[in-house]
Parts: sequence; C-alpha cells; structure tokens
Amino acid sequence: MSLSEFSIIERFFADPARQTERPDVLLGIGDDCALLQPPAGKALAVSIDTLVEGVHFPRNMEAHAIGHRALAVNLSDLAAMGAEPAWFTLALTLPESDEDWLAGFSRGLFDLAKQSNIALVGGNIARGPLSISIEVHGFVAAEKALRRDGARCGDAIFVSGWPGEAAAGLAALQANRSGCDDLVLRFKYPQPRLALGQSLLGLAHAAIDLSDGLLADLGHILERSRVGARIDLENLPLSPALLTACGSDQAARFALSGGDDYELCFSAPADCKAAIADIASVLELPLTCIGEICAGPGLRDARGQPLDPRKSGFKHFSQEAD
Ligand code: ADP
Ligand code: MG
Repeated sequence: MSLSEFSIIERFFADPARQTERPDVLLGIGDDCALLQPPAGKALAVSIDTLVEGVHFPRNMEAHAIGHRALAVNLSDLAAMGAEPAWFTLALTLPESDEDWLAGFSRGLFDLAKQSNIALVGGNIARGPLSISIEVHGFVAAEKALRRDGARCGDAIFVSGWPGEAAAGLAALQANRSGCDDLVLRFKYPQPRLALGQSLLGLAHAAIDLSDGLLADLGHILERSRVGARIDLENLPLSPALLTACGSDQAARFALSGGDDYELCFSAPADCKAAIADIASVLELPLTCIGEICAGPGLRDARGQPLDPRKSGFKHFSQEAD
C-alpha cells in the first residue's frame, strides 16, 4: 500500500473532529483495545455483518454509499432489537490504498455514525479483495428487547416503509436503467429504523429487519415463535415509484421477495393499532398492517393458499436462490 496502515487509520478513521463524542468511551482508537463503559441495568446488543464487493454491493459502487451501507445494515440489526446504538468496530480489507476511495468511504461512514450517535472505537486493516466487516454494540433493557420468538396468535403483522424499492433499485442499477434514481438511492442508502425500533419497546411482541425479503424474514419470526401467518396481499404497501417502475405484478414480487430494504417487520397485539398509527405519524413513516399471526404452520394468503418463503427471498449459498 502506498499509505501505511497507520496513516490510513490516522487520516481517515481516528480523526477526533469526525468522531461521535461519547462519555462511555473511556479509551478509543489507538491502543490494543478500546475501553467502554456499558450502562448499569442494560444488556449489550451485539451484531456483526460483512459486505463483500460483487456479492453485497455492485463493483464500482460509490465509496460514500459503501461507507453508509456498511454501517446502515448493522444499525438495522440494532433497530430490529429496539436497541440504542453506542459503539462500533470496523475491519476493512482493501485491494489498495486509494485515498479518494478512503475519503469517500469514511465520509459516508461518519455521516451516518454522527446521525446515529454511534462511535467508532477500533478496527483492523488488511490487504485483499474489498470487504467490510462492522460489529455494532448497543443498549437495550433485556426484558423488553424485540426478539424473533415473541409473536403470538392474534397479533397484527406490520411492515414499515415501502418494501421492494431497494430490490427494484438494485435491478435498475444492474441493468443500467435510467429514470429510477429514487429506487437506486433506496438500495445505496438504506435508512436503519432506529427510532421505530425503540418506539416499539413494550408494544411489539416480535420484530425483524428486512434484509432477505419480507416473506423470508417474516418466516424467521414464524419459525422462532412456532406460529403461522396470514398475509393480506392486497394490503401490501406498494410505493408509487415502485409501481411506476415495474407494474403491479413485479412490484408485489419485489415487495414480498426482494431483499435489502432494511425496513422492520413486527407483530403486535391487535389492540395496539391506534398506538402504532401514532408512532407512524410521529416518525412520518408508513406502518402498514399486512396480516395476522395464526396457529401454524407457515404462511398463507387471505384465501388460504400457501406462500413459500423459501422460494421468496435472496438466500446466500442456497440452490433455491432467486
Ligand atoms: P493491534 O496490532 O494491537 O491490533 P493495530 O495496529 O491493528 O493494533 O491498530 C492500532 C489501533 O487502531 C487499534 O486501536 C485499532 O483498534 C485501531 N484501528 C485499526 N484499524 C482501524 C480501522 N479500520 N478503523 C478504526 N480503528 C482502527
Ligand atoms: Mg495490539
């Protein structure tokens, strides 16, 4: 590398001017370990995700978007537990030390870190094919955390935002199709639903974030909660942008089976609908009821026809991947 590992860290990742200041970071980047002070009475929520070029984002995607996305997908896991972000570490594997790339990447990363009040406290740099691993740490009261295994029969099922837009954006990006800028932005710049997750504490019984597709991810809640679900397909929120770009059939397919939205899907008692409508209006984020948890197994539509989540989402290493 033309820049040494140490100058990369110093210039792009350890600059105090770019950092989120947090009193619970007793010692940040620069020593063998960071020293962090978790709050009394809260559990630490921890998650890690890796993004590999050519697998999780297209080759030559802008560095700023890669920086945003790498942190966003991890923050989304905290959101899905109702946890409040605190700290993260970054393991970066780079083919070369391209200063323009590092400037864009670190800007995308720190822009979102500042917004989300999360501090970068350490990491690693290695040479190899471009890959980014981020581990996030957040806080949540253990007894209130939004888990996958808490859904109960009779719960209403909700989804936030406009599922399908990110998958349509990725398809447009890969096909080099113009006129889909808003959809492409939804793929490049997913917005982790942190405020929503925290608002659902004490209200939702179960939650998950949508990385692999609505049916596939809801399927994980059903499996872990040992219940089934009825999905009312006519209530699926399909955005005007998605409908215009690909028509209603393909829009529904993207909404049910496309990945990468990082919206939340959650179940809550049916008598919480008014409280959930209030949250939607405070957050200015659509929260749409798309069905109901029922005795299992599996997913059915309103006419009782089975919906197969295994054929409906992007699954790594699966021969059924679509
Ligand atoms: P060590 O050899 O003890 O693991 P390094 O020389 O790899 O330490 O890193 C020096 C310091 O810089 C450590 O505090 C480490 O956490 C931090 N660091 C290394 N890479 C990154 C990175 N990509 N982002 C943030 N901090 C980093
Ligand atoms: Mg060391």
